[in-house]
Amino acid sequence: MALADEISPISPIGMTLQAFVDACADEGVGKGRAKEAYQAVFREGKTSSAPAKITMPEIVTRQEEPVNEGVTVKFVQRLPNPSHKLARHGIDFDDIESVIIPMIGRSGRKTHTLCVSSQVGCALGCDFCETAQMGLIRSLSASEIVAQWWAARFIEGIEIDNIVFMGMGEPMDNLDEVLTAIECLTDRTGASIPMANITISTVGRVDGLRRIKEQVQKPGWKRLGLALSLNASNDEVRSKLMPINKKWNMQQLQDILLELREVRGGRKIMIEYVLIPGVNNELEHADELAAWMNPFLKDPTREKAKGHGGLLNVIPYNPRRDSPWPAPTEEQVDAFVERLVSHGVFVNRRRTKGRDTMAACGQLGTAEIRKRKFVPVKLSASEDQSTPDA
Ligand code: SAH
Repeated sequence: MALADEISPISPIGMTLQAFVDACADEGVGKGRAKEAYQAVFREGKTSSAPAKITMPEIVTRQEEPVNEGVTVKFVQRLPNPSHKLARHGIDFDDIESVIIPMIGRSGRKTHTLCVSSQVGCALGCDFCETAQMGLIRSLSASEIVAQWWAARFIEGIEIDNIVFMGMGEPMDNLDEVLTAIECLTDRTGASIPMANITISTVGRVDGLRRIKEQVQKPGWKRLGLALSLNASNDEVRSKLMPINKKWNMQQLQDILLELREVRGGRKIMIEYVLIPGVNNELEHADELAAWMNPFLKDPTREKAKGHGGLLNVIPYNPRRDSPWPAPTEEQVDAFVERLVSHGVFVNRRRTKGRDTMAACGQLGTAEIRKRKFVPVKLSASEDQSTPDA
């Protein structure tokens, strides 16, 4: 058997215990020692415990913003990327953002939700979203996703109760890595986040939701949380806001959601609705939305269940940079919510947290990368004249 200092270090970040044990076995390290090393990293926050060794990306920005429930913390990790297409201009890294959001539950207990990014930028081009403005740079690996949790837990020192894939990127555009990251985050030997406390939020890629339908039928996955960003009450408005709707429309979304409800034993899917004044906030929109949600309001598979199967999260729009629309007023949000409630929709009104630090929903997009989009780098005459992000 190899001696400790002869073993090449292995990073368990992004791996399940089993995957780490297998990798260790290749190095001649036994299961018991592999397990101890795995736990040292995920439970004690050690960066090194042979043969485990992890390298955390540097945190380049950190911003705190007091909110009613405590303090929202946004941190930016810098991932080295030597093959970056702007490397010759000195940009050989990718910045990704994560946000820790305090919440007070119904029982009065304070919890922390970590909002993680699944990609650097996003390809989907939703008109209201800040991240969309920078386009897609690349997808993150499972280990880069899990590293966001590790930094929140052990660098920020905050116990993370819930994880939502609502940061930069579309999880369904990077589903393999997202699912691998979730396997790691839920590993009972390690991070041990309950599956029910993890939510994937999607723009509504029906092909991805079909894969999720298969996935949630595997052992341990039934409770995975799902959120759909609907953001409109009819196809005309939705297609204008979210180009993906031209591929999969609201009827197709409703169909797959009903299929999912069946295989998930009636579990609710959170429907998210970003309320944008002058775009989707009229009372008629609320009526249309309630009609679209109608099949979810009563769940035939749960006759005796109290409450509603339809759960709608109304998110007041956070103006992105150069936004053509303002944030809605309190009155506009109230009127919209009241109308939905009158139709029997169970509405959760999300309070905006982190708007000042641009850490709120749809406001994630890093300054360095944004610069590339809006400020073309000057190139010498001999070089190609296209803008760098083209
Ligand atoms: N791509 C995934 C996850 C990232 S967006 C998705 O679309 O669900 C996370 C949530 O933030 C989505 O519900 C999205 O609709 C919302 N969002 C995006 N831009 C926003 C903005 N400017 N103001 C408020 N919410 C926004």
